[in-house]
Amino acid sequence: MAAFGVISIIACSYKSDLSIPTKAKNWTGWDINRTGLVCTAFIPVAVALGVRGNLVGLVIGKGYERIKVMHKWVGRVTVLIATVHSLLYVHKWVLDGTFIKNSSSHAGITGYVAWIAMLLMFFTSLPWFRKRWHGLFKFFHVVGILSLVMVGLHVVGAMPWVASAIALYGLSIVISLAKTRYTTAYLVALKDCQMTLVSLPHITTGWRAGQHVRIRVPALGVRSFLHSHPFTIASAPDTAGLVLLCAAAGDWTKALRALAQTGDSEDKSDVGTYKHGVSVLIEGPYGGPGNTLPASFTSIVLFAGGSGLSYAMGMAHDLVERSRTGEIAARTIDLVWTVRAEGTARPLIPTLAALVDDAQAWEEKILREVSRGAQHTVRAPALRVHIYVTRADGELTLVPRRFTDTAPLISPLPSPVFPPARGGLASSSSSVSDLTLIGIGSSIKNLTPKPPAPSSYFASSSRPSLSVATDDPDTLAGVKSSLKASKGRPSVSGIVADVTDEAITRQGVELSASTGVFVAACGPAPLVDDAREACRRLPAWKRQAVGGVDYEAEFFGF
Ligand SMILES: Cc1cc2nc3c(=O)[nH]c(=O)nc-3n(C[C@H](O)[C@H](O)[C@H](O)COP(=O)(O)OP(=O)(O)OC[C@H]3O[C@@H](n4cnc5c(N)ncnc54)[C@H](O)[C@@H]3O)c2cc1C
Repeated sequence: MAAFGVISIIACSYKSDLSIPTKAKNWTGWDINRTGLVCTAFIPVAVALGVRGNLVGLVIGKGYERIKVMHKWVGRVTVLIATVHSLLYVHKWVLDGTFIKNSSSHAGITGYVAWIAMLLMFFTSLPWFRKRWHGLFKFFHVVGILSLVMVGLHVVGAMPWVASAIALYGLSIVISLAKTRYTTAYLVALKDCQMTLVSLPHITTGWRAGQHVRIRVPALGVRSFLHSHPFTIASAPDTAGLVLLCAAAGDWTKALRALAQTGDSEDKSDVGTYKHGVSVLIEGPYGGPGNTLPASFTSIVLFAGGSGLSYAMGMAHDLVERSRTGEIAARTIDLVWTVRAEGTARPLIPTLAALVDDAQAWEEKILREVSRGAQHTVRAPALRVHIYVTRADGELTLVPRRFTDTAPLISPLPSPVFPPARGGLASSSSSVSDLTLIGIGSSIKNLTPKPPAPSSYFASSSRPSLSVATDDPDTLAGVKSSLKASKGRPSVSGIVADVTDEAITRQGVELSASTGVFVAACGPAPLVDDAREACRRLPAWKRQAVGGVDYEAEFFGF
C-alpha cells in the first residue's frame, strides 16, 4: 500500500503548478483540478478491488475477501484526495469571493453531493462502526455507488471513469446472480451452544475446502433477503451435502437460530432441534486457499477457535475423503479446536468422532495390506483431533471411551535422526466418558439425496467401504488417528514446533522428502496471531528441512 501512496502523490504533483495561489496570480496555483482527475481515475480501481465478482482476484488467484484490504486502502486514499480537492476549491472560492455563486452551480452541487457520499462511506466503513452497524455500513456503500453518477455529472471527462466503475459493479452483480441458487435446507439449533447448523443436502459439489458461501433466508424478512451473510463451508465436496456452522453473533444469526428452534418437537434430540424445508438462496462459492494446495503438504495443522471450526472441519473432512484416492501427500492432519465450554463442543463430537473413525479405518486398512506385503503408493494420513476447553470446572466428559486408549498425539517415530519432538500436545487428557455417538442426521426425514449417515451429518462419499477387522494388535499399533480433549489453552508454538520436528524425523526414518508443513488458523485474532508468530519463529533450517512452512489465516470479517 506504501507503493500506492507514492503513486498517488506522484500522480497529484507531477508537472503540476504547486505554487501558493495569490491575488496577483488571479488565485491560480495548487493545481486543484489534478486532484479531481486523480480521484476520478481511482474510483474504478477501488470498485474493481471491492466487488464480489472480482476480476482482479480471478487474475491473481485470490478470493474477493483477501483483496478487500487493498480496496480499503485505495478507497481511503481516493476519499482523502477528494477531500483535498474539495477543500482547495472551497478555499479558493472564499478567497476570490465566489463561494456562494460556485457552491450553487451545477459543478458545485454535484461535487458536494459526491464528496459527502464518499465521506459517509469512509466513516461508516471504519472498523468500530462496521462491526457495530454492519447494515448501515452496507447502506452507505450502496449510497456511495449511486452517488458516482454525481461524479460523472460533475465535470466533462469524468463520465468514462464513472461508467467503467458502474460497469464493473454491474458485472459483479451479474456474476453473483449467476452463482446464486435457490434450494431447501434443514437447520439444527445445536443444543448447549450458540450455533446453528445449516445443511444443504441438494448441493453436493462445486466447492473447494476453505471456501465460503453467502446465504439469504427469505423467511427471516425482507432485509435478510437484501443482505447476504458469509459462512465457511464445513463439509467436503462430493459427499452428502454442503454444511454451514453459524455462531449466533448478532441480529441475523440469532434470528436464524430462533427459526431453527421453531422446529417440530418430535425433531428435538440430544443434539438440538431440527427445522426442515427452509428455503434459502446460496451464493458462491467464494474465496478459499487460492493457489495454495493444502493436500500437497506432508503435515497439516489446523487451529480453530469457536465457530472457526467450520474452516478446519471442511479442510480435514476433504483431506480424509481424498486420502483414499491417493491424491494427497499429507501424513498427518492435526485439528486443534479451542472452545470456551464443553457444551460448545458436545453436539459436534459425534461428527468429529465419525471423521476420526473414518481416518482410523483407512489407516488400519493400509497397514494391514502393507503387513501382508502389498506395495502401497496410497498414503493414509493420521487425523489427530485435539479439543481444548478453556473454561472447565470438573473433569472433561467429551471424548467417547473408545478414543481414550489411543497413542498420544504426535508420537515420536522409532529412530529419530534430528532432536525429538518437545511434546507440546502431550498434555492432561480428559476423563473417560460413556458418550455414544448421536447422529445429527439420524432424524432427518424425506430428504433427497439420501440423508447423512446416522453417526454424523457428514456422510462419506460413495467410495469403497473401509470396514476392516481390528483383531491384529501389532499391525494396528501404527494407527495414529485420535480424538482427545484437554483443559486449558493449546501451546500454539509448541504444536507447530512439534509437527515440524516430527516431519523432519519422519524424513530420516522413511527416507522420503517432506513436502512442507501447512498451518492454517481460523478464529479470534489472538489465536490467528499466535499461529502466524509460531510459523515465523521456526528456525530457518527447520523450515528448509521440511520443504517449507506455509501459513494461511482465515478471518470471519473483512
Ligand atoms: C469470509 C467469512 C466467512 C465466515 N464464516 C463464518 C462461519 O463459518 N461461521 C460463523 O459463525 N461465522 C462466519 N462468519 C461471520 C458471519 O458472517 C457473521 O458473524 C454474520 O454475518 C453476522 O451477522 P449478524 O447480523 O448476526 O451479526 P451482526 O451483529 O450484524 O455482526 C456481527 C459481526 O459480523 C460482521 N458481519 C455482519 N454481517 C456481515 C456480512 N454480511 N458480511 C461480513 N461480516 C458481517 C459484523 O461486522 C460484526 O463484526 C464469516 C465471515 C466472513 C467474512
